[in-house]
Amino acid sequence: MAATSRGTTPVPPESRPRLTVLSGPSGVGKSTVVAHMRKEHPEVWLSVSATTRGPRPGEKHGVHYFFVSDEEMDKLIANGELLEWAEFAGNRYGTPRKAVLERLEAGEPVLLEIDLQGARQVRESMPEALLVFLAPPSWEELVRRLTGRGTEPPEVIERRLAAARIELAAEPEFNLTLVNTSVEDVARELLALVGVV
Ligand code: ADP
Ligand code: 5GP
Repeated sequence: MAATSRGTTPVPPESRPRLTVLSGPSGVGKSTVVAHMRKEHPEVWLSVSATTRGPRPGEKHGVHYFFVSDEEMDKLIANGELLEWAEFAGNRYGTPRKAVLERLEAGEPVLLEIDLQGARQVRESMPEALLVFLAPPSWEELVRRLTGRGTEPPEVIERRLAAARIELAAEPEFNLTLVNTSVEDVARELLALVGVV
């Protein structure tokens, strides 16, 4: 069942999740929140996904994503190298399995920032994962953020908004909802959840 949380809740170490999945519609602020968490706490480990999408200005291979060709993505999938993968708004995205499993085996917390389809796959394969849904304060604000980011042409924004309607409807599937009104507040809440502060 989803719960809406708006304050910082202390989480005792024994009940801290090892694997946390952060999902939510495109433009809600997932990358911004994660970047804020990592600026203050560089030790927060985020899985770097593979994608067939091209880099946005400023995005670096191996840091924001592994930017791969369609053929390379086919191979990653065929070789079972991805923990989960999905097609989102015309591109494929997937989580490299090895790095995540190594971290989990070492008892270190892992954070995945992935779409709804990926979150569902993780829930199936790793039911112990904590699924966090990042929600916009309103639909209008989501449209404003996605458009205001200025990184996608209008037809891609339309595809992402169509996906967003489906993702928003899936919120009850998540363990917890955080409303992204304030980046600082959400980052603080997530840091507490993953056990960093
Ligand atoms: P996502 O990773 O979920 O697709 P981004 O992190 O790229 O979203 O954020 C989309 C846009 O919204 C960016 O321009 C970002 O600066 C802005 N944004 C993110 N969080 C907030 C917030 N709490 N208030 C206002 N703008 C925000
Ligand atoms: P963007 O192109 O805006 O970076 O990402 C588009 C969507 O793909 C976002 O919802 C993001 O969370 C998701 N995404 C990024 N990496 C992965 C991944 O490895 N797997 C899945 N399933 N989704 C991902």
